[in-house]
Amino acid sequence: MAEQVPAEATSAARPRLPRAEIVERVDITEELMVLKLKPEGPYTYKAGQYCTLGRRGIERAYSLASAPEEEFLEVFVELVPLPDGVLTPIMFDMNVGETMSIRPRAKGIFTMDQRCHKHVMVATVTGVSPYVGIVRSYLSRGDEGHHFYILQGASYQDEFTYRDELEAIAREHPDVVTYVPTVSRPDDERNVGWDGATGRVNAIVEEWMERWGLGHEDLLVYACGHPGMIEDLKERLEPKGYRVKEERFWKQ
Ligand SMILES: Cc1cc2nc3c(=O)[nH]c(=O)nc-3n(C[C@H](O)[C@H](O)[C@H](O)COP(=O)(O)OP(=O)(O)OC[C@H]3O[C@@H](n4cnc5c(N)ncnc54)[C@H](O)[C@@H]3O)c2cc1C
Repeated sequence: MAEQVPAEATSAARPRLPRAEIVERVDITEELMVLKLKPEGPYTYKAGQYCTLGRRGIERAYSLASAPEEEFLEVFVELVPLPDGVLTPIMFDMNVGETMSIRPRAKGIFTMDQRCHKHVMVATVTGVSPYVGIVRSYLSRGDEGHHFYILQGASYQDEFTYRDELEAIAREHPDVVTYVPTVSRPDDERNVGWDGATGRVNAIVEEWMERWGLGHEDLLVYACGHPGMIEDLKERLEPKGYRVKEERFWKQ
């Protein structure tokens, strides 16, 4: 990942990076958590961008689920267990009150494209983060005229961290947000009682776009998270003339 800085690049000669203190940690499952962080100084960003967090000189990118209008930064993190994961095993051992380094500037162009008004936002698990930030910011600004159709895929129902929030927004603002979570392993015992959509998110996008009566016009598809999902989605949609904006969380 181009944005990630190898540990050896952070020598003693480097200027000290700003710190961000963990002010809240919510464990969703053993491999998923939400952190709220308080940067030591002003931190400006656009909804949908990512921050670069670090610990012990290891830095990684994290999409912001918070809106710029909020007091704290919020990230939704998935553990990549040892021996593959490097920073996330360290992060999962961290607690409220501890600090991480934060690059002074947020980055990324995975932001809302104001030129169109129908936004089909497809995510795998943590890939929902930028959409949460975009929707929160949109609502807090009182903007009008846009509709966000959020489709989130996960293996298990307990991985839909922002489900309550997104469903509540969808109930309150049905003209602004439509939210469909889908589980890819409906027969697994972790999904007992699930009565929502099933199937991989990339496999059901077209069916849902048809149900919602969405044509090509004035529409942009966003894809965030698992590179395999993004690849497949683009193969399905681009030949049919849809535009797809993407944010891959890792290389395959
Ligand atoms: C723009 C951008 C935004 C990102 N936003 C988020 C975010 O909001 N939440 C989040 O959890 N991660 C996000 N990531 C991934 C994040 O930067 C780290 O790569 C991830 O947290 C794993 O870090 P690590 O140091 O433990 O492992 P790494 O050293 O980064 O990766 C170890 C190995 O695991 C693979 N890998 C990385 N992430 C995953 C994963 N989730 N599932 C399976 N394999 C993986 C890598 O390709 C590599 O082979 C983002 C990445 C980018 C480029």
